[in-house]
Amino acid sequence: MKRQILFITLIIAAMPVIQAQTTLKERLEKHVYTLADDSLRGRKAGSTEGLRAANYIVNQWKEIGIASYKEDTYFQSFREKYQNIIGIIPGNDPALKDEYIVVGAHYDHLGFKVENGDTIVYNGADDNASGVATLIELARKLKESQSSLQRSVILIAFDAEEIGLFGSKHFADNPVVPIEKIRLILSVDMVGWHKTSGYVKYAGAGTIKNGDQLLLNEKIIPEGLHVTTQNFEKSLFTATDTEGFAKKKIPTLAVSTGLKSPYHKPEDDAHLIDYDGMALITEHLLNFIQTVSQDANYQASGKLADKHQKDQPKVWFGISAAIGDNFHYYTAGALDGKPTASYGIGLLTQLNMGMFAIRPEVYYEYLQAQHPDGKIKASKVSVPLNLVVQMTERMAGADFFIGGYYSYLFSGKQGNGTLDLTDIFYRNEGGLNYGCGLRVGPLRAGFSVKYGLTNFTRHKNADGAHIRNQATYFTLTYLF
Ligand SMILES: [Zn+2]
Repeated sequence: MKRQILFITLIIAAMPVIQAQTTLKERLEKHVYTLADDSLRGRKAGSTEGLRAANYIVNQWKEIGIASYKEDTYFQSFREKYQNIIGIIPGNDPALKDEYIVVGAHYDHLGFKVENGDTIVYNGADDNASGVATLIELARKLKESQSSLQRSVILIAFDAEEIGLFGSKHFADNPVVPIEKIRLILSVDMVGWHKTSGYVKYAGAGTIKNGDQLLLNEKIIPEGLHVTTQNFEKSLFTATDTEGFAKKKIPTLAVSTGLKSPYHKPEDDAHLIDYDGMALITEHLLNFIQTVSQDANYQASGKLADKHQKDQPKVWFGISAAIGDNFHYYTAGALDGKPTASYGIGLLTQLNMGMFAIRPEVYYEYLQAQHPDGKIKASKVSVPLNLVVQMTERMAGADFFIGGYYSYLFSGKQGNGTLDLTDIFYRNEGGLNYGCGLRVGPLRAGFSVKYGLTNFTRHKNADGAHIRNQATYFTLTYLF
């Protein structure tokens, strides 16, 4: 009887050994094939299959022996149907163990669509079964080497990334440890294409003091892996789970092998993934996290990516250049004058109030127009004041504006002579101003129309018409 128990005990004890005999690469492969299988129907956040993916991760962590953040559950539920999955590996240093390194990977993807009766599944093998597989195996390796961890590590599989980074934002707003104790977040998102892209990139190295030195230290880079860094996340069109943390001023690293995979397409499948590359990335992440966990001198740089700066500035200043044309329109009669090249250069300020803004400007304008008695060339100072309606993010925006302007003509010529401002033309002009623009970073390109509402001429012509100016400009503005 005793011998039998011993025998059974031996078999049970040997099971984890058998498990451990599978290679890292094989385990990564298994996770990606499981999560990116058609049966998980694209793991859409809030779906039954999303929950199945969540349970798969929970079961892996349980098997590895990762402690859940709460006594009875790994789930941090939010908005009723979504859940982050959170595990903790405590560090050992009496002081540093109260500080945390967060490693996250989102496990949701886009789901599926039905087209002509066919179900087309977005398997999301690279985005982001690759990151989740890496997170699971990283958890195993960190757990195995737990005795060398000084700071603690929080592992999170984020939900609802694809529909608006909801999981990571929820965690950043409801952290399970004091937020100021989180010293770094790594978001592992799309790491399955190392071979094709030729690199794994850590974007955000500039948020950490000596970030490049830590990440590119040869001693921690396994052979065959090409690591690159980028100081700050830049892309305007992609975001990952670092954002919610960056806005709390926590250093962030976005880890990825780039956008070489069939991004957000049904073709993003498990057989295309580079599992050797993923194994190397897992090793590097392990080494890097251990280094940071042990480094008592580790510090944030205090710098953030522009796209992560929290607030829209209340006031913008800008320098603009305008190029376009102007023509005289006649208040009566069928004919207008011919458009003639005109220019402007000036300064503006914009007072931002969310989606509205007020934009006063002042600029020098060189306005030309064809006239029967000779071409008019006028130097003016113009002062537009516009109401702006805008959609604006830190890094990009679009706007429409409408308002009025006043302009003062201080010198001019007609043909070869001086422009007669005493008897024939007026110096002062007022009118309507409107247009639109697109902004990327500090550069705004716009289109504007200045429509004169006051007469340029003091006397009517033979047809009983006055002349007024109408100018159309393309404008380029640098904002600061
Ligand atoms: Zn993703």
